[in-house]
Amino acid sequence: MSEINKVDIIVIGAGVIGLAIAKNLAQQKKDVIVIEKENIFGSVTSTRNSGVIHAGIYYDAGSIKAKFCAKGNRALYDYCQKKNIPHLNVGKFVVATSKDEIEKLESIYDKAKINEVEGISRVSKEYVNNQEPLINCYEALEVKSTGIVDQQALMTAYVGDLEDNGGMIAYNNEINSIDYKENGYKIKFSDGTIIFANSIVNSAGLSADKIAKLIEGFEVSKIPKIYYAKGNYFETNRKLGVKHLIYPIPTEASLGLHLGLDISMQMRFGPDVEWVNDLEYTVDPNRINLFYDDIIKYLPDIRKEDLIPGYSGIRPKLKNQGEGKSDFLIQTSKEHGFKNLVNLFGMESPGLTSSLVIADYVSSLLD
Ligand SMILES: Cc1cc2nc3c(=O)[nH]c(=O)nc-3n(C[C@H](O)[C@H](O)[C@H](O)COP(=O)(O)OP(=O)(O)OC[C@H]3O[C@@H](n4cnc5c(N)ncnc54)[C@H](O)[C@@H]3O)c2cc1C
Repeated sequence: MSEINKVDIIVIGAGVIGLAIAKNLAQQKKDVIVIEKENIFGSVTSTRNSGVIHAGIYYDAGSIKAKFCAKGNRALYDYCQKKNIPHLNVGKFVVATSKDEIEKLESIYDKAKINEVEGISRVSKEYVNNQEPLINCYEALEVKSTGIVDQQALMTAYVGDLEDNGGMIAYNNEINSIDYKENGYKIKFSDGTIIFANSIVNSAGLSADKIAKLIEGFEVSKIPKIYYAKGNYFETNRKLGVKHLIYPIPTEASLGLHLGLDISMQMRFGPDVEWVNDLEYTVDPNRINLFYDDIIKYLPDIRKEDLIPGYSGIRPKLKNQGEGKSDFLIQTSKEHGFKNLVNLFGMESPGLTSSLVIADYVSSLLD
């Protein structure tokens, strides 16, 4: 980018959420440019995740996550069907592997009912073992609407919709400053390019706080601190024929170290939670014992030598270790006073599942 340009909307960040928003706006005939600092889309958190289409069972009633996830689940299945995006409605079991955990299972079930999640039921060990003979549990929840999606194919479809409607992605671009003028924003890039935009959507994921800090006059107290909770995965070459996702009881910081499946039905395990200070993605092989000790509780056939360090992703958390759960934070002029500026903070799971619904909501916030 070297010329001076004017555009309706700048979306910062070409992850699954930024792309969903950009495509939505382009489909409404808005003039949209997505600014991405990497040379490809979706290479940060949006491909470093479990690829699960969540049902919305865990989130607190009334939270944005609960609302967006249940609606996002249905929207994503519809979109995937329409666009022929590889996905599978495999369903999942949340398993109590000891009697002590049954109470927690009950409270997840109650929450899911409040959140109006469809296709959820409490099932016996025998029911689970009829379908998954290798899984150990006392009791379980069956969640039929959970599935998996090929994230890369999903984002490719979002990019297709964006470009078909005249939008574009500008790669390898770093923003130096953002100035708010009466009629919009003056955005200056590190190569000297200047773009004027009527609206900005800050969807920079783990760096959304850094983008907010670039906005001249933006009140620092309105920028939340983002804590990094890394999620590591271990993979395996073993094929045990497991056909459902298997989740243990969730912890405060994550949904638990679960048995995931990729679109070819190959198992993997994770993510765990490792609080880190840097965006560094190496998986420490020494974490194998933590993984093995958790997995063996629900999959006794697993052997330590089956586990191979895989990939990792980092959750942009709005609460630090031990501080509890947080919701998505979608800030508009009501909160920060800047017209047509939307900041998205803490877009952790279920951000992939909710992407189409987040996009609808964010576009409704712009003039
Ligand atoms: C371990 C893990 C497992 C998960 N599992 C699931 C799951 O199974 N199901 C689910 O629904 N959700 C899941 N999630 C959440 C989901 O992955 C995220 O909600 C989603 O990917 C966030 O998308 P995003 O577009 O906000 O962020 P990102 O994918 O991080 O995209 C942000 C983009 O902004 C770019 N950027 C950053 N700074 C700048 C800058 N200065 N200028 C320009 N561009 C910039 C980045 O390069 C990046 O491409 C998981 C997350 C993690 C970490």
